[in-house]
Amino acid sequence: MSDEKFLERLPLGVSVKGAKEGSLDWRTDFEPRELYVQDSRIIRDKSLKKKQIFTWLARVLAVGLESIAGLLVYQEFKRSGELVIPNVVLDLAIKDAQYLLLAIHVHNLGGKIENLRVACPYCESQFATELDLAKLKVEYAQESTTTITVKLPVGFDYLPSADSQFDFAGKKFNVFQFRIPTLRDFLSVENLVQSSDDQIWNNTLYARCLQKVLISDPQNAEFNGYAMLERDQTMLGTELFSRLRLKDIGAIATAFNSLPAVASRCDVTCSECRREVSVAVDSSFLLQTA
Ligand SMILES: [Zn+2]
Repeated sequence: MSDEKFLERLPLGVSVKGAKEGSLDWRTDFEPRELYVQDSRIIRDKSLKKKQIFTWLARVLAVGLESIAGLLVYQEFKRSGELVIPNVVLDLAIKDAQYLLLAIHVHNLGGKIENLRVACPYCESQFATELDLAKLKVEYAQESTTTITVKLPVGFDYLPSADSQFDFAGKKFNVFQFRIPTLRDFLSVENLVQSSDDQIWNNTLYARCLQKVLISDPQNAEFNGYAMLERDQTMLGTELFSRLRLKDIGAIATAFNSLPAVASRCDVTCSECRREVSVAVDSSFLLQTA
């Protein structure tokens, strides 16, 4: 059955602590849970889903997974009175968390979503269609990686405050190294989602995941690989991003968006004009039974 690809392996699988270093084998080691009607109070919490989508996602994963990498999920969640999300869930790469939401859906309700209402943007007709989750493209990481390294087209102009060892005039910090964002990271910036400026949200997420800021200058061995002082990096915080050129922040956004993941959109055919319409595969119709 082609639906089963959603029960195969995680796209990234990097954040589970205790996993064998450099090994991707454990990515197949997760077990969705058989859901009951009584679990619906978590899954169908409409106001949570609308206002705090990542809290909703964390709670659905906590109730919808037996285990990840051999670590119990649901039992731990239940033991806490359904109050504490297990760390193994919070430490999931966000792309893996989104994949697992689909896996829980497929495990419980199968891969077909029937009677999905779609409005065609071309002919404006409304039609009902069936969505086959098995048609969604899934990209997988080729090797075990925990970081995103971005080489910026230009780079950040900055004169370190207390490093008089070098003359930094004209030097640009043009390599930004991040750890892969987790569900925990998204939860921490969740309340900024409502803010009108998406860039504030993005900058906060980037600053949170930033590990190192470096100079890449092969022409100048003295500076090549030089990392910004941690103190300066901390002091600058989100300014490191608000002071970047648009082309540089664009490179960072592209790198974050290019992480291996399950596609968030799918094409369906309009029943009236027969054109292909792109539909967002989001939580609004996952795990719904009515
Ligand atoms: Zn149409």
